[in-house]
Amino acid sequence: MTIKNAQISYNDNGTPVAEAFGDVYFSDYNGLEETQYVFLLQNDMPGRFRLLQDDDDFTVLETGFGTGLNFLTCWQALDGLRHQQQRGPGRLHFISTEKYPLSRHDLQQALAQWPQLARFSQQLTEHYPDLTPGCHRLVFNTGEYQLILDLHFGDIEDVLPDMYCPETGLADAWFLDGFAPSKNPDMWTDKLYRQMVRLAKPGCTFATFTAAGAVRRGLQQAGFDVRKCPGFGRKRDMLAGRLNHKPAPDIFKPWYQRRAFQTQEIAVVGGGLAGANLCYALCHQGYRVSLYTERLAGDASGNPQGGFYPQLHTEGNISSHFMAQAFGYAQRLYRYLAKTDDFAHQFCGVLQLGFNPKEQARLEKLAARHHWPDSLIRPVSASEASDIAGLPITYPGLFIPKGGWINPQGLIQTLLKACGNKLQIHTEKRLNSVTRQKGQWYLQWQDCTGNQSECVVLATGAQSITNNLLSELPLRPVRGQVEAVPSQPPLDELKTVLCHKGYLTPALNGHHALGSTYVKNDLNTDYREEEKRQNLNTHYKALSECDWIQQLTGIQHGRASIRLSTPDHLPIMGAIADFNAQRQSYAELRKGHKDSRYPPPEDLPGLFVFCGLGSRGLCTAPILAEALACQLSGKPMPLDSRTLAALNPNRFLIRELIRQPG
Ligand code: SAM
Repeated sequence: MTIKNAQISYNDNGTPVAEAFGDVYFSDYNGLEETQYVFLLQNDMPGRFRLLQDDDDFTVLETGFGTGLNFLTCWQALDGLRHQQQRGPGRLHFISTEKYPLSRHDLQQALAQWPQLARFSQQLTEHYPDLTPGCHRLVFNTGEYQLILDLHFGDIEDVLPDMYCPETGLADAWFLDGFAPSKNPDMWTDKLYRQMVRLAKPGCTFATFTAAGAVRRGLQQAGFDVRKCPGFGRKRDMLAGRLNHKPAPDIFKPWYQRRAFQTQEIAVVGGGLAGANLCYALCHQGYRVSLYTERLAGDASGNPQGGFYPQLHTEGNISSHFMAQAFGYAQRLYRYLAKTDDFAHQFCGVLQLGFNPKEQARLEKLAARHHWPDSLIRPVSASEASDIAGLPITYPGLFIPKGGWINPQGLIQTLLKACGNKLQIHTEKRLNSVTRQKGQWYLQWQDCTGNQSECVVLATGAQSITNNLLSELPLRPVRGQVEAVPSQPPLDELKTVLCHKGYLTPALNGHHALGSTYVKNDLNTDYREEEKRQNLNTHYKALSECDWIQQLTGIQHGRASIRLSTPDHLPIMGAIADFNAQRQSYAELRKGHKDSRYPPPEDLPGLFVFCGLGSRGLCTAPILAEALACQLSGKPMPLDSRTLAALNPNRFLIRELIRQPG
C-alpha cells in the first residue's frame, strides 16, 4: 500500500483546505479555540485531567490527524496543567489515523499560524515520520510527563480493525474529526462506530464538531449515549457523549491474544541489544528491572560495528511492513539517545548495490513496487553512489539516507545508563535453568546461585536453544564471522555503509567491518581463516568492477558470533506458550477458524521470550522492546494486531495445527 500526500491550499482566511475533500482542516473562525471547545471541553478533558496524577494514563483516539492541531492543543493543555497546578496524567497517549498525511513542509506552513504552539509544533515537525503505512510511534521526552503520539498512516477503515486493543480497552476519549460527513461520507460509517466501541474503555467519551443526524443515530446504535450541545463559532450544534456500557468484544484469532501482567518488578535475562532495549523500555514505564547477564554486549551484540538499516522486500509482505516501522522507531530513539550520551555511530546512510543484473532488477522492483518515500529509500545511479560513498562505485543501487552503522556495545551502555536507578545489573550470570517454584520463576545460574521473580523475560539470544522451556520453538542458530580491515588508502575514503551480498563500513578506531559469513547450526565462535577468505571473496566477486576492493591488505583478525534466527526470519516476542495446553485447546483448528469457539491461549504465567532477532537487532530491538513493555503494562501497542500475530511465540505451533492432516 502506498501513502499519498495531502494536497493542500489555503482559503482567503489563511485556513488550510484539503483539495481531495474540498473542506477546511479547522474552523475559519479560530481553529485553536474550536479544538479547545469541541474536543477538549466537550470530552470534559480539563476536568478529568485535574483528577489524574503521575501514575495515571489518558488515551485519546482521533479519526484524522491533518495538521496535528488537536494533538498540539492537548499537549499545550497538559503542559499548562502539569506546570501550573502539578496535576494531570503522567502519560498522555494520543493515537491518530491519517489517510493523506501532510508533507513535513506543509505541516510546518500550516502550523506557523499558531505561534502560541510553536514550542510544541517545532518538536512535532522535527519528529515527523516518513510517509510509510503503519504505526509511527513518536515519543516526546518532556522530563515532567510522557507524551506519546501514535500516528497510523492508512485508511481508517483498514487501520482501526487491525488496531491492537488491550483487554481493558484503549480510548478514554474519541475525537471524531474527519471533515464534514457530507464531504467525506466514506469515513462516517457504522463500521467506524463499531470500532469506536471495540477500542473504547468503559466510560469512554467522544466529541465531534458535526451534529448530522446520521452520525447521531449511528453512534447511538453502536452503544453511545449522545447529547447535542451548542456548536463552536457559526455552527449551531455539535455532538458529544459517552459509552456507559461496553459489551464484551469478539476477539479475532483468540489464539494470538496477548495479556498484560500485573507486577512492579521484572527480571530480564540477557545483556545484548534485546535485553538492553527491553530494560530501557520497561524502566521508562516505571518498572524496577533486574538485568542478569553473563556479560554485557556479548555474543551477536559484541561486534564493533553493526549496519543499521531496514531489510525491505520486493513483496509488500508483513516483514517489510514491520521492518519499515521498526527502522523509523529505532532511528528516532537512537537520534535522541545520541544527543544525551556518547556512543560510537555514524548516520552516514547505507548503499544497497545492484552488483549484478539480477540484484539490479530486484532493487529496481523494490523501489518501484511500493513507492517507498525518498526519505526512506531512493534509487541512485552509479555516479551518485560514488559521490555518496566517496569511492568509485560502478553499480547503481538504493540509498537509505537515515541508516548507517552503530557500535552496539556503546549503544547498550547508553540504553542501560538511561534506565537510571530503576535498573540493577548483575553480570557473570549464565542461565542454567528456569523452574516454577511457589508461584515464582526460579532462575538458577551456572555459578550455583539463584534468583526468584514472578515475571521474567528471556532475551538470551543464541543461548535460548538450550532452554527446555523454549524447546518447541524452531530456533536456528547461525554463525557469522566479521573481519576487521585496517583503514588504508583508498578504503579510508569510504563515507557510507556498502551492502551487497556482504557489507563494508566506514572505519571505527582505524578498522572497517567487513562481513559476514552465515553458517547454519554451528555454535563455535573460533576465528577461521577459511571464513576470512570467504568474506573477502564475497567482496571481490560482488565488487569486481571496483579496483579498490582488490587492494585490501593486512587483515589479521575479526570476530565470530552466533545469531539466532527463525524459519520465517521474524523475531519472537511475547508470552511463552504452555505448548501442551495449546495443542489441546487448538487441536481442531485445522477444521476451520470460527474464532468464537476458541479460548484465549494458555501461557506460562509471567514468563516471556524476546529472541530470534538474527542480524537485524539494531533495527528491530527497540520497537519490539517497546511493544513487549506495553503488552506487560496493558498500554497501547506500537504495532498492529497482524504484525503482533506474526511475532507471537506460539505462531509456529498454530501454523502446524492449522496444517495438520485430519
Ligand atoms: N484533526 C485535524 C487537525 O487537528 O488538524 C484536522 C482533521 S481534518 C478535518 C480531517 C482529516 O481526516 C484529514 O487530514 C483527512 O485527510 C483525514 N481523513 C479523511 N478520511 C480519512 C480516512 N478514511 N482515513 C483516515 N484519515 C482520513
